[in-house]
Amino acid sequence: MKLVRGIDGLAFVRHSLPMFDLVLVAAIAGIAAVRGVQMGSRWALLACGLLIFAAADVVYGLQVTAEIYVLGTPLDAGWAIGLALMAMWVDGAAQARRTATPVPRQATLATALAVSSMATVAGLGVLVMSSQVPVSMLALVLAAGALLAAAVRAQLAARLLERMAEQRLVAAATDELTGLPNRRALYAEGHARLAEPGGRRQALLMLDLDRFKEVNDSLGHRAGDQLLIQVGARLQENLRGDDMLARLGGDEFAVLLDDSGHDEAVHAAARLCAAVGEPIIVEDTSLRVGVSIGIGLFPDDGPDLSVLLRKADIAMYKAKTSQLGHHVYSTADDADGEATRQTVNELRTALKSDQLVLHYQPKVDLDTGEVNSVEALVRWDHPTRGLLYPGAFLSLAEESGLMPSLTQVVLAQALDQVADWHRDGHPLTVAVNISASSLVDVDLPSQVASMLAARGVPSSALQLEITEGFLMVNRDLAQVILTRLRNIGVRISVDDFGTGYSSLAYLRDLPIDEIKLDNSFVIPMTHDARTAAMVSSTIKLAHSLGLRIVAEGVETAGTYTELTRMGCDQAQGYFMSRPVPAAELSPWLNHWHALDQSADILQLLPGGDR
Ligand code: C2E
Ligand code: MG
Ligand code: MG
Repeated sequence: MKLVRGIDGLAFVRHSLPMFDLVLVAAIAGIAAVRGVQMGSRWALLACGLLIFAAADVVYGLQVTAEIYVLGTPLDAGWAIGLALMAMWVDGAAQARRTATPVPRQATLATALAVSSMATVAGLGVLVMSSQVPVSMLALVLAAGALLAAAVRAQLAARLLERMAEQRLVAAATDELTGLPNRRALYAEGHARLAEPGGRRQALLMLDLDRFKEVNDSLGHRAGDQLLIQVGARLQENLRGDDMLARLGGDEFAVLLDDSGHDEAVHAAARLCAAVGEPIIVEDTSLRVGVSIGIGLFPDDGPDLSVLLRKADIAMYKAKTSQLGHHVYSTADDADGEATRQTVNELRTALKSDQLVLHYQPKVDLDTGEVNSVEALVRWDHPTRGLLYPGAFLSLAEESGLMPSLTQVVLAQALDQVADWHRDGHPLTVAVNISASSLVDVDLPSQVASMLAARGVPSSALQLEITEGFLMVNRDLAQVILTRLRNIGVRISVDDFGTGYSSLAYLRDLPIDEIKLDNSFVIPMTHDARTAAMVSSTIKLAHSLGLRIVAEGVETAGTYTELTRMGCDQAQGYFMSRPVPAAELSPWLNHWHALDQSADILQLLPGGDR
């Protein structure tokens, strides 16, 4: 007992052991007081155990002092019982922790606050009392300690609050998905930069992804989110340190290019377009999405950020509809923007009021000269602007989400017409163009099936023309939807073949019946030997894969004859007939069938809608 100076061993045993026990019991009582009625029987075990243990200690201390302690009396069992009860508490507590529902954070915080407040009040009380009555040094030290701890705690809490406020500010300015600055941050930074006295030139780029909706619709929102994250990272990699990239929401991003005028902005936009255009792997699928960028310049196009944003947005729309990639705002775009909005509204009305009409262009069988199928091409019979061609309204329909309705209208009209022709003894097949945005609709196969059934038209009388773009965006979904369409008996044709940047692998993998060689190969083939070689080998490729091949854009007798020689299956073009209204097709068919194909073909007079 050398460690306890001035106190002999027996005195230490006599005073200290019961003291420690009582401190423990007091602690349990304190916890019990704070936890209130939720204590439960487990804590009673601990309290009883400690009390029995402490009682044994007190009796032991007294007996040792009186020198009457004898080993092996029932007193020794007191410690064993006390320990056993405490062990039961430990075991019960471990089990309870495994199954317990977590104590609400609010309750924990309230408890912590209550304990520290009580300690502070008690400490203050002791210090105040010490000025009136003598208080032991230990109590004074403890009270001072409690107050010091309270002061430290207050400091920590203040710092924590400060950090939380900072974090909240950062979160409010950050886009949750990509971690990029958000619209709010762009406004703050943009206003500050543009308001700088004698500020530098700034260029605002508005970016909107092309075909993002297709990805979202076909691969799901998770894939869409991953795509946005990767696009964000790519854009960031292609910017300088002083440029600010923000995500405005959806598939819209904005870039504030520091110290940049027209040329710098155009260069940056071209760089960003190229970067986003590279394939992106999302969920093991290689996707290609493009981006349309509108550019607004400060100070030329507007004095503040809101005006600049509006101008860049108008320019972006122009870039998108003209598929230019990027476009720098000019005042002429304002009128364009207004006109575009009006056209979209008119198109919405047109879809409901039978203003869309179909013209039909025959596809001639080069082997027999017969016409068994036609392509339906949509036109808009505009009340004031006359007959409009697809180039004038299809991209608007796509952009404004009207394409699915347009597809429905066209399908219904084409099938009505086929039903009429079949009744009139012309068992023609009609080919309908289906945009990628309509094809990703998983209900399309069942809608097509019921439309066919409603008119009593066989499914072999319908062909759907799709473009390579759709096959590229999502090969797996294309496989599923095309297979379902094929299963109901509808034939699938790949339109504008050769113009996409796709690989040929899809020809092998997907359920396709026919390819339509784009007119950019067919028109020059008679005066360009290399093009002719490509046409010839594409015909062989199609045949070796068991596909039929149709040449689009046959404008001359020479092309017709050459394609026949090369073994092409069908031809479509102005040479035989332009697309014509249904009423004009029957006379044309009668005229065509009356011709001696080999002799009279050169005397054909193209007619039709242009
Ligand atoms: P496409 O499906 O490749 O249709 C062929 C286009 O080539 C038609 O243009 C047709 O008029 C034109 N064409 C036909 N023969 C010749 C020729 O000998 N020489 C030249 N230079 N051109 C010829 P159109 O009618 O303006 O249609 C353009 C595109 O609009 C179509 O290309 C198709 O992709 C799309 N389209 C047309 N109708 C619809 C529709 O109902 N729905 C959808 N989603 N797209 C449609
Ligand atoms: Mg077509
Ligand atoms: Mg085509």
